[in-house]
Amino acid sequence: MTSAMDSMKEIIIELVRKKKNAYLSNRLQIQCTCGYSEAPTLYSILVSGGFDIMEPVSTISPFVAEFIYDETITVTPIKAVKPCPQCGSNIEAEFPLSVESLQNMLQAGPPDPAMYC
Ligand SMILES: [Zn+2]
Repeated sequence: MTSAMDSMKEIIIELVRKKKNAYLSNRLQIQCTCGYSEAPTLYSILVSGGFDIMEPVSTISPFVAEFIYDETITVTPIKAVKPCPQCGSNIEAEFPLSVESLQNMLQAGPPDPAMYC
């Protein structure tokens, strides 16, 4: 993992701690191949740091007007990662929110203008 992603992870943990959001009380079912399963809240996964930030992927924006072509947005998926208390292997689960949607959800106020320079 690069240091840029480490600091992105810290930013997310900070943001989640400061701005509690009702959506984060939803639970994510995670299941190990050994049969162990649990359903922690999204909030507890994030504040415990039990997640990895994946490689960003480009996708076509769903908000594109028909006269604009090739409008792509970057989506950075999050993966929940937790060592299984039963067999010790890592349980991985796809997190329902990307970094961008999480930041949009948690960040109040206008976006940072520096992003558009
Ligand atoms: Zn297991």
